[in-house]
Parts: sequence; C-alpha cells; structure tokens
Amino acid sequence: MSECSNCGKFILFGGRTLDGQRYCGSACAQRHPLLRSAERVPAQVLQQYVEQWRKDACPQCKRKGEPLDVYAHHRVHSFILMTQWSTQRQVSCRRCGRRSQLLSTLYSATLGWWGMPWGLLVTPIQVGRNVVGLFRPTPQRASPAFERLVRLQLAQHQLKLEAQQAQLPAA
Ligand SMILES: [Zn+2]
Ligand SMILES: [Zn+2]
Repeated sequence: MSECSNCGKFILFGGRTLDGQRYCGSACAQRHPLLRSAERVPAQVLQQYVEQWRKDACPQCKRKGEPLDVYAHHRVHSFILMTQWSTQRQVSCRRCGRRSQLLSTLYSATLGWWGMPWGLLVTPIQVGRNVVGLFRPTPQRASPAFERLVRLQLAQHQLKLEAQQAQLPAA
C-alpha cells in the first residue's frame, strides 16, 4: 500500500514520485523541498524540541500531563460513482487521538460503501487503518510521525529566517 509522504493519504492511482518519495498530488508534491530540508535538522536539536513539545498541553482538550503525539485518522465517503477519501493528522493526547479515530471509523463504515467500485475497495482500508490506530498501545516515546512534524516546523522556521535575511539590504 502506498501513502502520500506529505499528508498520509492512501494512494490508489495517480500521484507523483520525486526522489523516491510518493505524493498524492501536485499540492503535496510542492512540499517536497521543505520535506527534504527537514531531513537536515540536526538530531540533537530535534530531540530537544521533541521532548519540549511533547510536554505541552493537549491542543484539543487543554489537559496537561499526557504526552502529545501525532494521531492519524482516515475517512472515506461515497455517492454512487464518486468516492473521496482523506487522512487527517492531529497533534493531541492519546484520548483525543482515539476519539477522532473512532469517529472516523463510524463515519467511513456508514458513508464509505455507497460507491462503485472504489467505495467497496477503499472503505475496508480506511476502517482498517483507524482500527489499527485505535488498538496501538500508548507510545513510550515520540513516534516517527511526531518527530517528522517537529522537523518540518523547524525547517519551515529556518527557511523563513533565510528568506528574511535575503531581503535585508546589504550594508
Ligand atoms: Zn498528499
Ligand atoms: Zn486531549
């Protein structure tokens, strides 16, 4: 199964490949340079921010004390010949993450089937991905997805700084 390197969407057909990375469409493929520069964030800097951001209050329920992570949930809905699906990622505590996975399971199981032929094919995939997420044990350390998100934030910040410096008039 192939999923988009940027948004995590399940790619059934189409998509683009850049340097061995798969993207679901041109919007996600445009993020490729940022994703590449995110790989260059030094491990030590990364770890420091990962530890710090994991301890923040949950953006969804505002509770503190449970480590934050990235929780993906997957939806599909169909209407006769049309089937659309997507993956959402949220940063939250595990409780909030599981709540979204459960809601998306119900959403997909109710609305996913009613399309030929893709609804029948994609619905079990999306439901299965949610169920895997629901039963995954509480992560003891930050997941690769969370590290990636922190990397991206740092890379974005770095690119912005570089752009600002480029705009400064030369003394
Ligand atoms: Zn994508
Ligand atoms: Zn929460």
